[in-house]
Amino acid sequence: NIRVRFCPSPTGNPHVGLVRTALFNWAFARHNEGTFVFRIEDTDAARDSEESYQQLLDSMRWLGFTWDEGPEIGGPHAPYRQSERMDIYKDVADKLLAGGYAYPCYCTAEELDERREAARAAGRASGYDGHCRDLTDEQKQAYEAEGRSHIVRFRMPDEATTFTDLVRGEITVQPENVTDYGIVRANGAPLYTLVNPVDDALMEITHVLRGEDLLSSTPRQIALYKALIELGVAKEIPQFGHLPYVMGEGNKKLSKRDPQASLNLYRERGFLPEGLLNYLSLLGWSFSADQDVFSIEDMVAKFDIADVNANPARFDLKKAESINGDHIRMLDVKAFAEACEPWLKAPHANWAPEDFDRAAWEAIAPHAQTRITVLSDITANVDFLFLPEPVLDQPSWDKAMKGEPAALLTTAREKLVDADWSDPESLKNAVLTAGEAHGLKLGKAQAPVRVAVTGRTVGLPLFESLEILGKEKSLARIDAALA
Ligand code: GLU
Repeated sequence: NIRVRFCPSPTGNPHVGLVRTALFNWAFARHNEGTFVFRIEDTDAARDSEESYQQLLDSMRWLGFTWDEGPEIGGPHAPYRQSERMDIYKDVADKLLAGGYAYPCYCTAEELDERREAARAAGRASGYDGHCRDLTDEQKQAYEAEGRSHIVRFRMPDEATTFTDLVRGEITVQPENVTDYGIVRANGAPLYTLVNPVDDALMEITHVLRGEDLLSSTPRQIALYKALIELGVAKEIPQFGHLPYVMGEGNKKLSKRDPQASLNLYRERGFLPEGLLNYLSLLGWSFSADQDVFSIEDMVAKFDIADVNANPARFDLKKAESINGDHIRMLDVKAFAEACEPWLKAPHANWAPEDFDRAAWEAIAPHAQTRITVLSDITANVDFLFLPEPVLDQPSWDKAMKGEPAALLTTAREKLVDADWSDPESLKNAVLTAGEAHGLKLGKAQAPVRVAVTGRTVGLPLFESLEILGKEKSLARIDAALA
């Protein structure tokens, strides 16, 4: 049985790199009918927050990732918040110490710094030098008597580590590049280096899929795993797969702090979860040579970690928007109308939530659905229906009214009064004839009508818009513009 985990730390807002990691784990689990474990790595009291924890859960739900074990639903390895598992880590750390797999290290930060500097200056590797590896009991007691505190350090075996990464193939790391590392702080707090592999072992994780930034911790975790197996705590070393970096603007790694990286930004702009996930799945993976747009079900059906590419992936906002637009068009119109409602009913500068008119919205929705790429674009397209008065965009107005059009608008109004307002064709003919009277083609003739009625020079099909807004309001707006 395949078991994967998604194990974020609740620090700050979730970012797109994290979502990609969740997605690949989730898709891998679902494709293989495995188990998707959701675990919260909140052992760093200084950086973790309850607010961020709640945000993680909320984001996971919004994205549609269901977990088989984890917060709120529990499971056979509960609890799934590391802050509630401290006894377990203490117990494992004691076992590692007793078995000689780890040792107390009394070096102070200053001493470590000095020796690191000296090693660098001499051109030697600058990892931990093993100073406290083999202290005698007397030496330990002497340090204690000096009042020194100690951390717990894991003893790395003096041999190369080789493993087969599911994404990048065989990787070998020489021992001088992975020296003994801390697993418990001087105050007794266990570190990521301990709790992450310990929980992976106890939760019987079979595949660890995570970002490339964690590649360097893998040889350490494999060594720790071997110790845990000898101690009877772990059964088997999981397989590892490291997902490629995501590059942002200027070909720099997209960082958590990059505003473009924040998941909330995409939610607030009105990405559909399925559109965003479709796009994020392409960061390191591809569906097929000629198809970029697909449903999440189809992605799951096709997803194989062996197809993930090791090369850095480039985050392309334009492409994300375009794919999201395609997903908007894949919705049935009712679902689309519902998805937009929160944006239309939100408080706006120029209209109140009570001005929202459902009948008008449902009538215009099909025309809007073909044009927008993110749901938040909807307000600028349909606000003329709800605004008590259109807010004239002055430059648009000036442009549309240059020369002939003022006279044209008067003629158009005359023709429109007699048109059939239940038929966009009839409204179009009215404007067309008015244009002919002034030697203007339809395109030029409809511009001032559009600006007068909607406030803008571009927008949804004009004659359908007029029909839906209705005769009375439309003519009143033309009058106001002419006054
Ligand atoms: N809590 C770690 C992080 O968010 C998990 C890393 C891992 O997947 O091993 O970076």
